[in-house]
Amino acid sequence: MLALGVESRSRGGLFGPRLKSENKAKNAPASDQSWKCMYKSAPTGEVTIDDFEIFAKNRANLLHKIENWRAIGIIGEELSNKIRFEDEREYGGYHELIQSNKDCIAHNVLRLAYSKTEELRRFFVAQECALFEARLKVNPSDYDEIIKSNSIDVEQVSANEKQKYSAELSIMYRQLQMYNKELKIEMFDNARVWKTRFTNCLNLVSKRRVFVVDGYAYLFKTHLLNVISQQFRIVLAGRVNAALRFWPYLKESEGERVVPFLGAVTNYEVKYSEVDIKGGTVKPEMINTLSEQSFPLCMKVLHKSLRDKHHLKHQGRMQFGLFLKAIGLSLDDALRFWKDEFTKNQTSEHFEKNYAYNIRHSYGKEGKRTNYSAYGCTKIITGLAQPTSDDHHGCPFKNFNESSLKMEMRSKEFGDESIREVIELVQRKHYQIACRKYFDLTHPDFQEVSKETSRDEGMPFNHPNTYYQKSRQYHDNNKKETNVTK
Ligand code: SF4
Repeated sequence: MLALGVESRSRGGLFGPRLKSENKAKNAPASDQSWKCMYKSAPTGEVTIDDFEIFAKNRANLLHKIENWRAIGIIGEELSNKIRFEDEREYGGYHELIQSNKDCIAHNVLRLAYSKTEELRRFFVAQECALFEARLKVNPSDYDEIIKSNSIDVEQVSANEKQKYSAELSIMYRQLQMYNKELKIEMFDNARVWKTRFTNCLNLVSKRRVFVVDGYAYLFKTHLLNVISQQFRIVLAGRVNAALRFWPYLKESEGERVVPFLGAVTNYEVKYSEVDIKGGTVKPEMINTLSEQSFPLCMKVLHKSLRDKHHLKHQGRMQFGLFLKAIGLSLDDALRFWKDEFTKNQTSEHFEKNYAYNIRHSYGKEGKRTNYSAYGCTKIITGLAQPTSDDHHGCPFKNFNESSLKMEMRSKEFGDESIREVIELVQRKHYQIACRKYFDLTHPDFQEVSKETSRDEGMPFNHPNTYYQKSRQYHDNNKKETNVTK
């Protein structure tokens, strides 16, 4: 069991020291821990290690899905609907969610885990805000309560004040009514008006959606969502930055149980696109054709480099070797495959002495006999050392410069428009979406040809071996394809 919050005496529990200023929440009602109170209080009580891990993994899974939907251009109501569907599956309906200890624990665990780097913090804040906003949209009648319980700087204006600016406000209201169905049922005279300092809704101000006078922005109910969301973003960004300071305490008190898990959960792969990675049987003679047809670009690059230089450095050997193992290359065949290439530049004795052990080790036949798994995209993109000019590991969508990537795509005869789309995704750091786009361009009519029953909306695969399997499914069903030489 893990003691979570301020109830525990040993350093205040897992979230204790960091939330010192919030210790007044010791006897706080459960709602203070809820999303509606912006997770003001840390979760209290105890949780089993298993639940702790499952809650956090499932939340990470949800946040990655949100990121992927946004990256492929799903926005607005469509995005909110998708988020709410998954949210309900994980935490129950709106009312269960408000009381959900699970939601509070998951949020707080990930807030700690994702506090470690700037990139992780940015990811966490962006996806949590999208989740928060989707929840907010469910019940606008809760806005007053949310504003009050979070002391958000926004107040309803008096009838006199509304009257004073009625000319400007009624114009603004008519514009709103043009695209907001809900407002059509309410007359301007009945509509409530709020005001807040204009700095609390800069995005509304910049889009000229609100009327500003004397430093205050005047708003209608529909704008409150924006003001509340912005407040949540500010609060969350501050708390996730503060969480970073908690790591030294955590290492001291939970260095063995919790810290390794927190490190791993940020590398967690998205569940929905994981497939059981089952290799068929792959022989060394098949690898050239398979590489051409079905390897993702990261593995193609490693394979090409191996064939050109007859050598790969350690990280590249691990990334490529474990991928080959997962697609079905046996240990004996792996030894033969690597030896054939390496001994074009060195003696058999040198290979046996310096490399064969590592290959057997990666198949779990030496040392601790760990059966290592193939690396997923998250590990390849963020978890490996940045490649130097001599290295070829990593993800080309992240590591290639723009002209190399364009050259690669031109060699595949992609059109200018497609190349531009991939480059744009890369510039926005959506490497896995760019990779999926590359897959779709090299596997035309993928959905129909591969007889996929559920449409995946171009979601990224998240694992090079998933990319490979989907590609094999496509080519196996494509009768016009030439068979892979066996
Ligand atoms: S996104 Fe994943 S599969 Fe695609 S190239 Fe990068 S690491 Fe490889």
